[in-house]
Amino acid sequence: MPAARHRRTCHNGHVYYKTSDCPVCPQCEAARRPQSGWLAKLSAPARRALANAGIQTIRQLASFSEKEILALHGMGPSSLPHLQEAMKEAGLSFKNKK
Ligand SMILES: [Zn+2]
Repeated sequence: MPAARHRRTCHNGHVYYKTSDCPVCPQCEAARRPQSGWLAKLSAPARRALANAGIQTIRQLASFSEKEILALHGMGPSSLPHLQEAMKEAGLSFKNKK
């Protein structure tokens, strides 16, 4: 990880420090965090990755392949088990998962 940290202030006035270029305030992010459901199990970057791809429901997620989801910026391999579990519960699976 790079050592440089940048002081930022979000539009709500929270001061925070970021090492990356993603301009996301952790306090605002925490306030937006879903309290339940499959999205609540994901890390914030993973949720943003899905949101940026227009994925809001487990059904929308199932129209993507595992490879496509992993290619999203912010999505890490550690999020996949949560997604797979959620889709399994819904009777769904990734598009071309064997
Ligand atoms: Zn904020």
